[in-house]
Amino acid sequence: MLLLKPNCECCDRELAPDSREAVICSFECTFCRACAEGVLKGHCPNCGGELVRRPIRPAAKLAKFPPSRERVFKPEGCAAAATR
Ligand SMILES: [Zn+2]
Ligand SMILES: [Zn+2]
Repeated sequence: MLLLKPNCECCDRELAPDSREAVICSFECTFCRACAEGVLKGHCPNCGGELVRRPIRPAAKLAKFPPSRERVFKPEGCAAAATR
């Protein structure tokens, strides 16, 4: 099941489970769209994989399957991507 992480790894922006600004890679590294399209150029800085929009979990399912509250913040990966 998708973790639905609460923030962007690059800029630490809040990404609500119903945000259409959230993108993920196949390992669920999570970013906002601005970082993904900007500094990351569509690829995850951790694994090199493709970043795609995170699907919205229907609100009715969130009570039973809540989003992750564990924040991941790794701005150094994004800094490295910026200088590539
Ligand atoms: Zn971001
Ligand atoms: Zn990744």
